[in-house]
Amino acid sequence: MARLPMPRVRIDEAARLTRTEGIDEALGAVARDAVELLGSAKFSRVRECGSPDRTRRFVDLSHSGARRWCGMAGCGNRRKAGRHRHRKKDPQPSPA
Ligand SMILES: [Zn+2]
Repeated sequence: MARLPMPRVRIDEAARLTRTEGIDEALGAVARDAVELLGSAKFSRVRECGSPDRTRRFVDLSHSGARRWCGMAGCGNRRKAGRHRHRKKDPQPSPA
């Protein structure tokens, strides 16, 4: 798949970028990215999302290397909202 043709990119006189691609070019671009990742040091940073759905993998480029979610906008925020609801429902007893 990585040998499939590259998307054609063109810039017109108004500096607008036009990208022409079909399914083969799109799949080829994904395959080339996968091959580059497999052969790089970043491959050791590939993680599976901590969401119960676990549908995504991501490259953890964080400094600590402890990222748990594919993205905070989706999975991370759902998890935080769930913990917040749980805390409101079952509050910790206050110290006496
Ligand atoms: Zn996720």
